[in-house]
Amino acid sequence: MDDLDARTSELDRAHVFHSWSAQGALSLLPIAGGQGCTVWDHSGRTYLDFSSQLVNVNIGHQHPAVIAGIREQAAVLATIGPATGNLTRAEAAQRIAARAPGGFNKVFFTNGGADANENAIRMARLHTGRDKVVSTYRSYHGNTGGAIVATGDWRRVPNEYSRGHVHIFGPYLYRSEFWATTPEEECERALHHLRRVIQAEGPESVAAILLETIPGTAGIMVPPPGYLSGVREIADQYGVVLILDEVMAGFGRTGEWFAFDAFDVKPDLITFAKGVNSGYVPVGGVVISDEIARTFDDRVFPGGLTYSGHPLAAASIVASIDAMESEGIIAHAKKIGTDVIEPGLRALEADHPVIGEVRGTGVFWALELVADRATREPLPAALMGKAKAELVARGLLPFIADNRIHVVPPCVVTADEVATALTAYDEVLTLLD
Ligand code: PLP
Repeated sequence: MDDLDARTSELDRAHVFHSWSAQGALSLLPIAGGQGCTVWDHSGRTYLDFSSQLVNVNIGHQHPAVIAGIREQAAVLATIGPATGNLTRAEAAQRIAARAPGGFNKVFFTNGGADANENAIRMARLHTGRDKVVSTYRSYHGNTGGAIVATGDWRRVPNEYSRGHVHIFGPYLYRSEFWATTPEEECERALHHLRRVIQAEGPESVAAILLETIPGTAGIMVPPPGYLSGVREIADQYGVVLILDEVMAGFGRTGEWFAFDAFDVKPDLITFAKGVNSGYVPVGGVVISDEIARTFDDRVFPGGLTYSGHPLAAASIVASIDAMESEGIIAHAKKIGTDVIEPGLRALEADHPVIGEVRGTGVFWALELVADRATREPLPAALMGKAKAELVARGLLPFIADNRIHVVPPCVVTADEVATALTAYDEVLTLLD
């Protein structure tokens, strides 16, 4: 079977144009199959997937109920346009709305997370009649035209083909922009900064505040207590729509249906993708508060996508949410995070000076690696590359972003699998200390 791995690499290099990459030097692992937290190549070499494929496969690979749901739907109606009623689509929307707070009943389906954020921004602009969107420098909201401009991480790339985006520094105590030394100080200063930016921009011009509940790709920065409720207060004071981006943090990753369930905050719009069906079929969407949904009762919402509410995506959502519920997967993610992952990572922190900070919740953790604990200088890219190669060589697929290893296995990860991964991290961190 080795020749299939070679054939994959050959064809891939010849014909697939990959995202986020210079194409010339690419050499990607060929993955042929998967089950639960494990994937394998054609020759049978296995890897523990502690990346969840861009923090996506919350339910694990090849969950039988989700595969069966897709199969059954495909046998009956494999596609139908959005301008029709469809029971599977309606049931998917109902399942999602039932997990949202009271006062959220409608779901707009998109093809993924970026267009979910684009459509949420559009709804906020139409609802308020205002233009500007405030988001944070340390964020990732997707890579379509508007979503990438909202994304803070990519401000340095010329991408200004959307209007009215303003950025703030959200809370990040380890590298505070405000010289804060406690979570309380960082929270107070970040809220003060947000309020001042809205005042300076002119509150009557600000349509939305768009935040990842827990910024993910940018570093898994769990907000300090009081931050999100403080943002809610500011949004209310100035009549601004609060959009919480739950694309990465939602549907189990934090041990909650929505990450904001653990905080004292209720948004106006919720964007989702990834964990809603673990990416078995591409889908995303916006959960809309009743108040904003009413804006469009007698006014056309000028947006739509051919595949909005695709029946295969809808079937996978229904099956996935039902399985997460009946198998207690959300509670498992919380428990394994608290009982196994966090203590394991704290033990690594105690042993390895290269770890500057451990932070996270549920199955959503980051190890921030530093060249020097005192100065907090980030570990150089070459060493992060080495960390990645050494982890893969030990049979672990990692998620690495800048100077961080994100520890993000599927929500169904077992204690034994965590133990195996911790051994690999331990060995590799020893090489970096
Ligand atoms: N929002 C967040 C928080 C994300 O993490 C991502 C992707 O990683 C997106 C939006 C974009 O989602 P997609 O890649 O499905 O467009």
